[in-house]
Amino acid sequence: PMKQRLLVVANRLPVSAVRRGEDSWSLDISAGGLVSALLGVRDVDAKWIGWAGVNVPDEVGQRALTKALAEKRCIPVFLDEEIVHQYYNGYCNNILWPLFHYLGLPQEDRLATTRSFQSQFDAYKRANQMFADVVNQHYEEGDVVWCHDYHLMFLPKCLKDFNSRMKVGWFLHTPFPSSEIHRTLPSRSELLKSVLAADLVGERLLPLWETDLSIELQPSCSLMVIHSFHTYDYARHFVSACTRILGLEGTPEGVEDQGKLTRVAAFPIGIDSDRFKRALELPAVKVHINELTQRFAGRKVMLGVDRLDMIKGIPQKILAFEKFLEENSEWRDKVVLLQIAVPTRTDVPEYQKLTSQVHEIVGRINGRFGTLTAVPIHHLDRSLDFHALCALYAVTDVALVTSLRDGMNLVSYEFVACQGAKKGVLILSEFAGAAQSLGAGALLVNPWNVTEVANSIAYALEMPADEREKRHRHNYAHVTTHTAQDWAETFVSELNDTVVEAQLRT
Ligand code: UDP
Repeated sequence: PMKQRLLVVANRLPVSAVRRGEDSWSLDISAGGLVSALLGVRDVDAKWIGWAGVNVPDEVGQRALTKALAEKRCIPVFLDEEIVHQYYNGYCNNILWPLFHYLGLPQEDRLATTRSFQSQFDAYKRANQMFADVVNQHYEEGDVVWCHDYHLMFLPKCLKDFNSRMKVGWFLHTPFPSSEIHRTLPSRSELLKSVLAADLVGERLLPLWETDLSIELQPSCSLMVIHSFHTYDYARHFVSACTRILGLEGTPEGVEDQGKLTRVAAFPIGIDSDRFKRALELPAVKVHINELTQRFAGRKVMLGVDRLDMIKGIPQKILAFEKFLEENSEWRDKVVLLQIAVPTRTDVPEYQKLTSQVHEIVGRINGRFGTLTAVPIHHLDRSLDFHALCALYAVTDVALVTSLRDGMNLVSYEFVACQGAKKGVLILSEFAGAAQSLGAGALLVNPWNVTEVANSIAYALEMPADEREKRHRHNYAHVTTHTAQDWAETFVSELNDTVVEAQLRT
């Protein structure tokens, strides 16, 4: 049978491109979650459309890069520096990202944002149209177009305006906030309407069968029945933003606008768990595991792996660890916290401030509880390669995820996938999407409650083996059966079905 053609549109292509000469480029494919997910989907022939992350002002360079990328099944969208500044740094990262994660901005930033709002939103729309132009050039009848994330909320509308028969889906990788937050956005209605042009809107959430509780919400829209409040938070927020802000009707299926239904559904993302299990079998990784085991012999290893972002709650995590050391002096030389803090947006003052704040706290705690030969916290401002990361996950006794908000948090999934032998404990923020799927196996915490997190650390370190194993088994079963491949397959087939149903309705 003919393979289903799929165009995946995301802000960034899964490659990093470095220019080597006037017409030569070297490309490095990043084998992140989404890439391996789609490689694993049978019967789908996927191509990627997105920005390569570099400014290429000249035509010779653009042609050469396009040609090099084609071999990797990638198609570039060229954005100039001004557009990147206004659309990517501005509207996406300074407006939508904090808003979707419930982060308040400092007062001066808020006023600056208010002033530059309109020009940034205009640039956002222009950039989305540039993505749409590239999609339109490459689209063939029958293709499925899958748009990703908050960068491209305007894209579904641009695509449908060009060709109303195109099958268009949109998937959000971050939380969608309460309608009370979304309504503060000056472009609130326009954004919602453009997303609704898609046939299928998906969010990183759990399917119905995971839930046990069903509640009916909002008597004002009597048709909308939502199963389990917690599990459906983001989808529910999106639907209620549409009903409250646009005055549309929410149905069990999605949102209805003058007879046209946009399906809104929860699709939990997963990881390629086999890739992690295979990595642990490699000789080089085994050597690394042995080294780490020897290095930390006699101490329990706690691990944090996060981009150094406000949403990850790193200061909160470290303060909780300090409280734990304060109250459990017998543990002081028997536990170590390894915190990998991957640098991100290092040119933004707010992020620089966060870095120095974290350094200050770590320094204080190490000064307070360190000895001549050991410190309680190893804090690294860097990323690790895949194999080093797998080894670290495998030797960890307790992983600590304290996100203040997080769409899903794949680190918690990756940790579980690497714990087949050790069966360690996961302490997980209730504000991460993963809390909905790993909640029964993990110790759930409110990261703002330092006392609760400190107590959970003590509990995790002393947990009896049978409880640890039981909790691990639950999480491991989930992570290895709800994979990235399943997620992508489900989304594509649902999108196909949705379009067929819509055609039958008309
Ligand atoms: N990661 C990485 N190198 C590192 C640390 C982390 O590539 O040194 C990866 C990690 O394996 C995971 C991703 O970064 O796949 C982080 O995803 P998550 O959903 O936890 O958070 P995000 O950064 O997307 O907010």
